[in-house]
Amino acid sequence: MRHDMGDWHPESPARLQAIEDQLIASGLANLIEHREAPLAPVDALARVHTEAAIAMVRDQLPPAGGYHPLDADTLLNEHSWQAALRAAGAAIAATDAVVTGDVGNAFCAIRPPGHHATPHTPMGFCLFNNVAIAAAHAMQVHGLQRVAIVDFDVHHGNGTEDAFSGDPRVLMVSFFQHPLYPYTGVHPPGSAPLNLVNIPVPAYTRGDTVRELVRRHWLPALEAHRPELIFISAGFDAHREDDIAAMGLVEADYAWITRQVVEVAQRHASGRIVSCLEGGYALSALGRSVVAHLKVLAGLD
Ligand SMILES: [Zn+2]
Repeated sequence: MRHDMGDWHPESPARLQAIEDQLIASGLANLIEHREAPLAPVDALARVHTEAAIAMVRDQLPPAGGYHPLDADTLLNEHSWQAALRAAGAAIAATDAVVTGDVGNAFCAIRPPGHHATPHTPMGFCLFNNVAIAAAHAMQVHGLQRVAIVDFDVHHGNGTEDAFSGDPRVLMVSFFQHPLYPYTGVHPPGSAPLNLVNIPVPAYTRGDTVRELVRRHWLPALEAHRPELIFISAGFDAHREDDIAAMGLVEADYAWITRQVVEVAQRHASGRIVSCLEGGYALSALGRSVVAHLKVLAGLD
C-alpha cells in the first residue's frame, strides 16, 4: 500500500483497497484465510534477476516524498524496495504453503505486479517478476520437475517469457491483445520456443472467442505438460470496463478460465495453484473479477 508511483498512475494502492472492499461486500473475506506477506530473500530474486536489475531498485530509492523514474511509467518511491520484496515474498510463501499441502491453493493480492520485469530490467509497472521467482523457487527448492504458468493479463508477459523461454520444465500459456504494450510475444511461424503457447488477439476480442482459444490451444498443452504446480499471472485488465486496453472479458469469463485451470490442476497437480495479481486498473471491475476468480479457487462457485 505504501509503494506508489504518483497520483496520476493507474497502478495505485487503491487497487488493493478495491479488491479488499469487494471481498468484504461479497462475503468472501470471511470464508478465506488471510496471511501477511513476508519479505523475499535477495537470493530468491537472484534466481531470476541479475545483480544489476536488483540494484536498480535497491540502490536508487528516492528520499521521502520523491520519485525515481526507471522508465516513463515505472517509478520508485521510498517504499518500493520493501514492497517489491513483499510481493515476491508472498508468491514464495504461497508456493511453500501449496507445495507442502498446508493450503490447497493461494491468491497473492500483491503490487507491484511482475510479469513485465525481465531478468535484466524492471519495466511496465513491474519491479521483480513475482511469478517467475516463485516458479524458480518451486523447481530449485522443492525439486518440482514441471510447472505451468497461465497468464491471462491483457498484456504479454514478456519478462516471464524471457525468464523461461526454451526451458522444457516450464510451460507458459497466454493470450494478450496485439498490438499492444510491450509489443512482444508474436513469433514468426515455426520459430516459437516449444514451451510457449502465445495467443495474440486483436482489440475488441470478447470472452466467447477467448474461451474457444483456451479450449483449442491452452488445455491440450497443459494436459500434455502434466504440471505439478500451476502459477497464474492473474491480470484483470482484459475486462471490458478497463480502458488500459480494449478487450471484452467480464467476470464470468475469468470464472470460466479459472475453472479450466482448476480442473487441470486437479488432474495433474493435486489441485495446487498459486495465483498472483498482475494488472487490472478499472477498480470496481478489478474487485469483482478477483471475487469471481477466488470463488472458483475456493470451490464456492
Ligand atoms: Zn496488464
